[in-house]
Amino acid sequence: MEENLNLTPEIWTAEVVYAGIGTPMLRGGLVVVGEHVAAVAGLAELQLRYPDVPLVHKGKALTPPVVNAHTHLDLSSVPYFRGGYTNFIRHVIGHGPKRTVEAAEQGLSELRALGVGGFGDIVYKPETVEWLIEKSPLPGVAYLEVINRNPDHAELVARRVVELLSDWRNRDSPVRVGISPHTPYNVSPPLLQKLVEIARLEGFPLQMHVAESPEETELMTQSTGPLRDIPLQYGFPSYQHLPATTPVRYLAELGVLGPHLTLVHGVQVDEEEVQMLAQSGTQVVSCPRSNEGLACGLLPWDLYLKHRLEVALGTDSRGSSPDLDVRKEALFLWERVDPRVLVRAATRNGYRVLGLELPRITRGTPISQVQSW
Ligand SMILES: [Zn+2]
Repeated sequence: MEENLNLTPEIWTAEVVYAGIGTPMLRGGLVVVGEHVAAVAGLAELQLRYPDVPLVHKGKALTPPVVNAHTHLDLSSVPYFRGGYTNFIRHVIGHGPKRTVEAAEQGLSELRALGVGGFGDIVYKPETVEWLIEKSPLPGVAYLEVINRNPDHAELVARRVVELLSDWRNRDSPVRVGISPHTPYNVSPPLLQKLVEIARLEGFPLQMHVAESPEETELMTQSTGPLRDIPLQYGFPSYQHLPATTPVRYLAELGVLGPHLTLVHGVQVDEEEVQMLAQSGTQVVSCPRSNEGLACGLLPWDLYLKHRLEVALGTDSRGSSPDLDVRKEALFLWERVDPRVLVRAATRNGYRVLGLELPRITRGTPISQVQSW
């Protein structure tokens, strides 16, 4: 790229300016000279220090690169679906053969074009984890998906997961590996407990879809509802253990909650459950556009804020999201949630979920490392 030789300073501003430290600023700005940031401060202060410098409005937000903390890159060639959650599950199962390395490659290209600073990806096949470890220049976590409802298989499945992860963890790659027990109802209790033990002892992060849809709550609490028929319809082994309690309470009872776990969605929760998540140090990722499109509802942001659990953002897959642009998740809620909360969700909280360091915008930061939304 040609170097910008125009060294006339400009002051960039946006509705929210976040340098990666402290509270995002509502009246903030960056002084930009050529290709670099020269100063970061409140707008009034910058205009006093640089009186004749032109002001450039950069839109809604200026931030470090955003993080997509939850997606499924291998679903990138599955058509975008809107409708009820159970029909979405049928849609994904029906397009199972499309979950390929090539699809993940397509998804990774999209993330790179968007300039994300990191990604959290749930991966269906081991060969796709291999590919991400080998080829991804972007840092992130690839969580191997585990689905098995038969408690008799717990030992065997857990052993296989340990073998795979032990091999992968020794590779030199910006992508770390983790485990994704699919949902509370698609992994048997003994397998779930084994996976949590492995994660704790070996330091593997966990990511799990929990409290996403009303159908999930109905299945878990009453053993009824449309999700109940899915295994039967596809000839899969049926559910063997449905605990007659809500997903978050079930995980709390089983000892699954904790800082090693990132819970994806957390929409269908009451205040006591939000408190359980906050007190256990469990991390949470929200995918607002997917939740809306699948009629799952809206995460209770006020409850999470009240209990000081700062949520990260993800898009979920291209199967339930029109793109992988996590900034659009924040913009989708811009009028409903404090934009400073959303900006931190799309940046700082995402880096924290993935165990990555949050980049800061300071004097000398290249403008290529500043995202305008
Ligand atoms: Zn997902």
